[in-house]
Amino acid sequence: MFKKVPGTKDILPEQIHIWQEIEAKGRDIFTAYNYKEIRPPLLEDALLFNRSLGESAEIVQKQMFLVHSGSDVYALRPEATASIVRSYIENSLDKLSPFFKAYYIGPMFRLERPQKGRLRQFHHLGCEVIGSYDPRADVEVISLADSLLKAFSIDGYTIKLNSLGCAGDKLALTDFLRKELSGKAEALCEDCQARYSRNILRILDCKNPACQEIVHGLSISDNHLCDGCKNHFAKVKDGLNALAVKYELSSYLVRGLDYYTRTVFEFTHPDLGRQQDALGAGGRYDNLVSQLGGPDTGAIGFAFGMERLLLATTLKPEARNRKFTFLISLGEKARKEGLILLHNLRKAGISCDTDYEDKSLKGSMRKANDLGARFVLILGDNELEKNTVMLKDLVSGEQKEVPREQLLSELQDPVSRPGLETGS
Ligand code: AMP
Repeated sequence: MFKKVPGTKDILPEQIHIWQEIEAKGRDIFTAYNYKEIRPPLLEDALLFNRSLGESAEIVQKQMFLVHSGSDVYALRPEATASIVRSYIENSLDKLSPFFKAYYIGPMFRLERPQKGRLRQFHHLGCEVIGSYDPRADVEVISLADSLLKAFSIDGYTIKLNSLGCAGDKLALTDFLRKELSGKAEALCEDCQARYSRNILRILDCKNPACQEIVHGLSISDNHLCDGCKNHFAKVKDGLNALAVKYELSSYLVRGLDYYTRTVFEFTHPDLGRQQDALGAGGRYDNLVSQLGGPDTGAIGFAFGMERLLLATTLKPEARNRKFTFLISLGEKARKEGLILLHNLRKAGISCDTDYEDKSLKGSMRKANDLGARFVLILGDNELEKNTVMLKDLVSGEQKEVPREQLLSELQDPVSRPGLETGS
C-alpha cells in the first residue's frame, strides 16, 4: 500500500470546510483592501530563489525541492515573493500600474524535517505590494495582516516589529556582530557557528537558548540605522499607533532572507510551541525588484502559514450545509424518475444528492441526517401518480406534499424559513 510522502498531508473532504472558510474570509479582506489574486506557477527556475533569497539562506542551502530536466534545474517554489516579483517584471506589470497589489493562496515546498507545524508541503496565504517606499504601505500591509487574524478568530498573537535598515545599515549591523561575537563563536549552536561566516544576522533570531543568551547580552538597538531609515521606521510605528495595531519592538527579529530591508515583522502565537511559534511573517524588500532586472522600486509583503492558522483559529466549521437536499426514491419507477428530478434541481443550482444503495426509508433518513441535509424529498409510487413530491424540512420537522412544478421555488427560497440562519 502506498503512503503519503513524509511531511505532506491529505486534506480530506470532511476537513475542507475550515480551509474554505479561511480562504473565503481571506479573499474578502484582501478584496476590501483592493488586492487582486495572482497565481504564479509552482515550478520556477531554481536560480530565481538562489538570487533572491541569497545563496546563504537556509532555504537555498538545504530546503529546495529541485527538479532536473535536461540541463535545466527547476525548483518547487519554497515561497511566493520571488515568483511574484519575477512575474511582475516578466509581464511588465509596472507599465499597467506602478503600484501593484496582489494576494496569493497556495502550496509551498521545503525539504524540512517534518514535525508538528513544519511540513514539506504547506500552504501560504499572503500578499505583496510593489511600487512604493512609502511607510504608509508598511502600515497598510501590517494592519491588513492584523485584520486577517481577527477575521480568522485568532486571539493572543503578538506582532513583533523591527527595522533592519537599508543595505548599508545591514552591513553596519553585520560588522558590529562580527566584532561582538568573534570570541564567542564556539559557544553558539552548530547552526549559528555556520551562520557566523555565512549569514551572521540570522544568529539574532536563533531559537536556541544558549545563542539567545549570548545575543541578548549584546546591546543591539537602532544605532545601526541611518537617519532615513530611522525616520521611515518612526512613521511606520506612528501609523500603526494611529490604527491601534499593537506591536512589540524586537531588535532581534531579522528574518533569514537576503532580500529584506527596513521593516520586518512576525506574528507569533504561544499555542504553536516555542520552536514553531510563527503564524506568519514579512517585510520590505526594496532592492529585490531591481536586483532581478525590474525597475528601482520599493516593495513589501507577508505570508501566513495556513496550517498554523488552522492550529490557532477558534473558528468552528459549520456543522450542516443548510441548503443541502437529499432525495429518497422508493421503488424502481421512482428511482428512474428521481434521476431526472435530481438532474433538473442541479441544473437550477440546488445542491442535492441521493444514494444508490436502495436502503429502507428509515435507513435513507438516517443517511440524510448524517449528510447534514436541510431537506429530504421522498418520491414513491403514490407521489409519482399525483405528480408531487413529499418535502420534509429537517430543521422545522414540517412535512408537506408539494406539486412538482412548485418544488423549485420551495427549495430556492429556504431563507425565509425559520432555522436556516442558526447554522447548528
Ligand atoms: P517564512 O517564509 O519562512 O517566513 O514562512 C512564513 C510562514 O509560513 C511561517 O511563519 C509559518 O507559519 C509558515 N511556514 C514556513 N515553513 C513552514 C513549514 N515547513 N511547514 C508549515 N508552515 C511553514
